[in-house]
Parts: sequence; structure tokens; C-alpha cells
Amino acid sequence: MKQKNQLARTIYHCEHKHKPSDCFGKNAAKKKLWIQAVKVAEKSDIKVREFVISPLEHRIFLILEAPSFESVEHVFGSLKTLGEMSITPVLDGSFFEL
Ligand SMILES: [Zn+2]
Repeated sequence: MKQKNQLARTIYHCEHKHKPSDCFGKNAAKKKLWIQAVKVAEKSDIKVREFVISPLEHRIFLILEAPSFESVEHVFGSLKTLGEMSITPVLDGSFFEL
């Protein structure tokens, strides 16, 4: 449950995917871009709730909690060259609570 005085934040579901031929699993420089983005996110008031990977499908899923879409774009926009990224605002399970 949200605290009464908690500032409004939006949850974003992010999905990155790339072609097997563009895989950066063994490319340290490209992996570093992801590591840097997560570190910058944490310093930019973006909470990375989940960061999970499907290596066989070359897909990465993130659940972020951020003050704005602009902040997400600012931090994770640096990954655009690594593959496709979809960023969808979502609601957590409390949406169904009565
Ligand atoms: Zn891959």
C-alpha cells in the first residue's frame, strides 16, 4: 500500500530485445552501457524494481518506478543503439484492490 504522503510515481515495464547476431552477451563495452544506465537510474530517482533476462530470447525486462517518462527516457535512451526498447506505463496489483 502507498503511504499517504508518498509522491506520485509511475511504474514502467520496459522490454529490450536484440537480434542474436547483435548479442552483446560477450561484449564488455555494450554490457557496460547497461550497468551504467542502472547506476545512473539509481542516482536519478528511478528505482529499478526488477531486472531480469531471457538470454535464449535475447530479451531484458525491467520494472522501473520513476517520477516521469522523461527521466526514464533520459537514463535508458542511451541504450537505443543496442536493440529495440518498449517502455509501457503500468499499474501494480493494487489496481485490483477494493
Ligand atoms: Zn543477446
